Order: sequence, then C-alpha cells, then structure tokens
Amino acid sequence: MQLDASFYTVWREFQGKAEQDQLPICPIGKAFGDKIQATLFDPLGNEPTREQIARAKFWLQEEWQAWKNAVPIWHLQTCSTKSRCLAEIYDEYYDRLRLMELRLAPMTRLLLAPDGVTPPVPSSPPPPTIHLYGFPLGSFDPQGG
Ligand SMILES: [Zn+2]
Repeated sequence: MQLDASFYTVWREFQGKAEQDQLPICPIGKAFGDKIQATLFDPLGNEPTREQIARAKFWLQEEWQAWKNAVPIWHLQTCSTKSRCLAEIYDEYYDRLRLMELRLAPMTRLLLAPDGVTPPVPSSPPPPTIHLYGFPLGSFDPQGG
C-alpha cells in the first residue's frame, strides 16, 4: 500500500518524532530497514488485508527482537543518541503498518447504533383484509352458521 507521504509526515510531527526522522541512519539500522522493506513491506503490495498487516506486525516484532539480541548492547546505548538505530527504524515501520491498519477501518461500522447492535429492520405491515360485499373475506360462512 502506498502511504500518503504528507499524512505520514504530519502524523510523525504530531507524535513528536519529526526531529528523530531527520537523524542519519547507522549501518545496522540501515541493514535492518532494508530487510524489513524487502521481506515485509514490498510483499504487502498496494491493497493489504487486515490479516496480512497483522502478520507483518508480528514478523516486524520478531525481526526487531532477533536483531536487538544480536547487536552489542554498547552500540544500542550509544547509537540512538546521534542516529537512527534498530529501535527508531522499528518505530518507523510499526507506524507505517499502523497507518495502513487505520485506513482499513470498515465503513459499515459507522452505520451501527451506538451500542454496536444493528438497528432492527421494521417489520412489514399485515396484509390488508379483503372485503366482499361488505363482509371480510375468510369470515364469510355460506352455510349461514
Ligand atoms: Zn546503530
């Protein structure tokens, strides 16, 4: 899904992440981002389903944890102060997935009543009573009884 770049930028500014987005990316963060782009975002295509986005979020978590455990702690502690490292790249990609997910909100939910229950469909009126010579049809007894 192509994200609206201006919407993403405004959203990141609103979250207070605009300055962070201007920092350079360290080589480890770049390698992590390249892998996430190639293995998760490129396969999503232009119209991902909610399930595909959920799977991408899961695998983003898994990859982030695996990379975090493979990088020396001293790098993670010193790198994030002057550049975007694993945590910042993870945050950017998570926000992109979250934006995709928010755009998939089903519009039909807006038609539900506030309690979440579909409003009842009005029942059809009873069939009209047909009269024959002033007598309702069905109650006429030809035997006179
Ligand atoms: Zn780094």
